[in-house]
Amino acid sequence: MTAQKIPLAGVIGSPISHSKSPQLHGHWLKTHGLPGYYIPMDVSSDNLRQVITTLPKMGFVGVNITIPHKEAVLGLADIVTDRATLIGAANTLIFRKDGKIQADNTDGYGFIENLKSGAPDWIPTQGPAAILGAGGAARAVIASLLDAGVPEILLSNRTRVRAEKLKSDFGNRVQVVDWVQAGNILEEVALVVNTSSLGMIGKPEMRVPLDGLRAGTVVTDLVYTPLKTRLLTTAEDLGCVTVDGLGMLLHQAVPAFERWFGVRPTVDSATRAAALR
Ligand code: NAP
Repeated sequence: MTAQKIPLAGVIGSPISHSKSPQLHGHWLKTHGLPGYYIPMDVSSDNLRQVITTLPKMGFVGVNITIPHKEAVLGLADIVTDRATLIGAANTLIFRKDGKIQADNTDGYGFIENLKSGAPDWIPTQGPAAILGAGGAARAVIASLLDAGVPEILLSNRTRVRAEKLKSDFGNRVQVVDWVQAGNILEEVALVVNTSSLGMIGKPEMRVPLDGLRAGTVVTDLVYTPLKTRLLTTAEDLGCVTVDGLGMLLHQAVPAFERWFGVRPTVDSATRAAALR
């Protein structure tokens, strides 16, 4: 009789010490009484291929992938899901029983689930969305909003050419707005999303003028350190419906945990508390 292997999972990035994923998955393993461990791993780009091909042999069922490896892992996977292909990056690897490595991207799913839970009255088809920032996270947000039926996305980024690239990848429902005009689009939209790193601890503050925000507009920030960014505090003062970025992190982890450990976890206040611990 062979002993049942204890499943292992983890997160690979560099640096990795800031990651909240170990507390999050550790909390779910504990609350569901499941055997398993979730381990943070600081891996350089030079070692990425060797580490990823070795992990399945050590009992790993999959890993999360974070900065700076989200794009590079696509080239190491045998199977890439449609949404990871569309986004051009993966945040989740599944080491399948047939030996194949599957790459997926659950960031867009996490983003939409967080919005649904934080702003349940938001209807995707009811109006355009403004997106500030055009980096890696913006790709997942745009893909998920277009998929949800948002009619138009007004995209503004400091480096305009990056926004133009997203428009050419995602098509005519994306319109590029110059960064100096970003404040002017806020009054026309039903949803505002900050996907830039502005407002994050250690980064510059968001300087986009926010006085055009209308009461009732849904405003969400991907930045979750701090939980209440200046964008969210100002939007709240103006009567907007605000949704912080921590929920996206929690929701994007749900499908991966289910694939790896066989139980679909729920996101609740205890999950938030565990991630913040
Ligand atoms: P990224 O690819 O490095 O993109 C950074 C974005 O921020 C770019 O649009 C960049 O504009 C903009 N930016 C940086 N400094 C700026 C400045 N001084 N002025 C104006 N714009 C500036 O990073 P990312 O992966 O997209 O992540 C962006 C943020 O989202 C990070 O804070 C990350 O922690 C957060 N995030 C949160 C979640 C979640 O689950 N809540 C998930 C993913 C990411 P340029 O193109 O001009 O450089």
